[in-house]
Amino acid sequence: MNFKAIFSVGISAMMLASCGNQPKTETPATTAKADTVVQRIVGDDGKLYQSEQFADLRVLHYYIPQWDSLSAKQKELVYYLYEAGLAGRDIMFDQNCKYNLPVRHALEKVYTTYSGDKTTEDWKNLETYLKQMWAHTGIHHHYNSTKNMPAFSQDYFEDVCDATGTEVSEDVLKAMFDKDFMAMKVESDVSKDLVATSAVNFYEGVTTQEVEDYYAKLRNPGNRTPFEYGLNSKLVKENGVVVEKPWKVGGIYSEALEQVVFWLEKAEKVAENDKQAAALRLLREYYKSGDLMRWANFNITWTQATEGDIDFIQGFVETYNDPLGMRGSYESIVEIKDFEASQRMKVMMDNAQWFETNSSTAAEHKKEKVVGITYNIVNVVGESGDASPQTPIGVNLPNANWIRAKYGSKSVSLGNIEESYEKASGASLLTEFAHDEEEVSRAKEFGGVAGKLHTAMHEVIGHASGKINDGVGQPRETLKNYASTIEEGRADLVALYFMMDPKMVEWGLMPSLEVGKAEYDAYLRNGLMVQLRRVAEGKDLEEAHMRNRAWISNWLIEKGKTDGSVSVMNKEGKTYVDIADYDKMRANIGELLKEVQRITSEGDFNAAAALSDNYGKKVDQALRKQVIDRAAKFNIAPFNAMVNPVLTAVKDAEGKIIDVTVSYPESFTEQHIEYGKNYSFLPH
Ligand code: ZN
Repeated sequence: MNFKAIFSVGISAMMLASCGNQPKTETPATTAKADTVVQRIVGDDGKLYQSEQFADLRVLHYYIPQWDSLSAKQKELVYYLYEAGLAGRDIMFDQNCKYNLPVRHALEKVYTTYSGDKTTEDWKNLETYLKQMWAHTGIHHHYNSTKNMPAFSQDYFEDVCDATGTEVSEDVLKAMFDKDFMAMKVESDVSKDLVATSAVNFYEGVTTQEVEDYYAKLRNPGNRTPFEYGLNSKLVKENGVVVEKPWKVGGIYSEALEQVVFWLEKAEKVAENDKQAAALRLLREYYKSGDLMRWANFNITWTQATEGDIDFIQGFVETYNDPLGMRGSYESIVEIKDFEASQRMKVMMDNAQWFETNSSTAAEHKKEKVVGITYNIVNVVGESGDASPQTPIGVNLPNANWIRAKYGSKSVSLGNIEESYEKASGASLLTEFAHDEEEVSRAKEFGGVAGKLHTAMHEVIGHASGKINDGVGQPRETLKNYASTIEEGRADLVALYFMMDPKMVEWGLMPSLEVGKAEYDAYLRNGLMVQLRRVAEGKDLEEAHMRNRAWISNWLIEKGKTDGSVSVMNKEGKTYVDIADYDKMRANIGELLKEVQRITSEGDFNAAAALSDNYGKKVDQALRKQVIDRAAKFNIAPFNAMVNPVLTAVKDAEGKIIDVTVSYPESFTEQHIEYGKNYSFLPH
């Protein structure tokens, strides 16, 4: 699971900025006119953290603090893993919609070869549309699933295509200009056939029922070591028969996966230790065979490979983009451990069993013995696919529950990514949406710590907690399209529950419970109001994390009506949330956690659907409009896209790598033009 959480939603990152970390801006927000868009933000360390804003996106930058402390061999390893990651970049474009690659290639050709007038509105709109395409890895919005529509006409596009000798098919034009064609990337309206109406390229010619029937035959509810069925394939109907087409060398995506395998093999030869090498070998074998048994073995070995300084996430991993929660999006993250920062959090890892025992969940849903939890704060070197340019801030893997129960799991907080969000943030939205001065000053003093601790707890003790009852299938089988939002909500609830526990202060994880209070304030502000900034007009909440933040917040508000713990009020047309009793709220969080763990342990589909649909789906459109109006004057785009560092190998006369250097591109556009040139391995 990953956590594109509170911090990555930008908006709350701003709300949580601690006062010691206020970024300097080249157009200082204090003196800028209300309608001035702050484009560039340079931190107090002189580094560029935001380079531009367009559409609903800010372009942010992150840095690798420890590069020079790596040995030459470690740098070489990082370089190979980084190249392996980028080699698969095209896969995610194709997974998101089968027209993404042809659309992107047409646009890139026009963009790089057009010699006509580039000062027109049309051209600027084309440039923005292309940047959106890169930022969202396709023609759909990564978060709310709707299509980003071009602000230039089809006639204009056909003209510039003619001028540059760019050929486009009728389908490409339809994908770009017909609003109703492939309208949603991931449909979540259960009154429709989710498979047939989602644009993701995971199914062809099959209905939701046919997909479910196909996998029901493969699954055996008594199996305690089930494969992640459907994770690495496309399901299609051929001559009336439903068949699985694997993504593997020799199958779909072969051209890109051959490259990935090439780099993984090099990485294996310079691995830091045997376990790491074994994991890399199993991953390679899995890509070559498509065999889910090898994927399971890779995950077991990778989970136990905890010793090196370098680590990686690579594969078809998260299933948020499949309306049925089965198929994994291609992803790569290359990481360097931050030992000092990790040491400070070690107490959490060491006491994993304490958390499990003291959680509010029912005794029969607790793990008797929590095994193999490892948690590290890492610095990211490069990301690709599902993790880029939209990056998580925390990740907990593997996703298979039985592997987590038996072998443990690895959690990471992405330290330098969190740092980037903090450096690029300001306090303006906090001041606008906070209920009172006390809340503002608490957020300024403790918000930064609170956000980081929430991420850590969400990953380490959240996802890793609880157990599934014997004979009950994995959540993706039992809770289906609700599995992701229930799981994310469960992890959030565990984090929230313990954020107000005095033990955290005793252990030195926080200076006082004010940190917990700051987190409760921020969570409800975001879940009820601020995140609505990211929702398109007239739409419901679609994305799993946004939904879970809404159903938790709305459920707590409803509780507050009877016990007075929290209330929503309106002052001069502005809505505010005020928490009156943090201890009572903690008890309510405990109650909800207990129920959500029960839903997960028992696989109670109907209860999952009721919770998510009744509390986490509908958007109060008037409130949405109010939030957008209140935020508008600050001109801060609600979504973010990250620019990755660039690694370059320095070779000797024989072609042997002797050093690897890092550079930090300032231009988002340049980065993606380079990616298109160097990593276009799939046919289009
Ligand atoms: Zn999560």
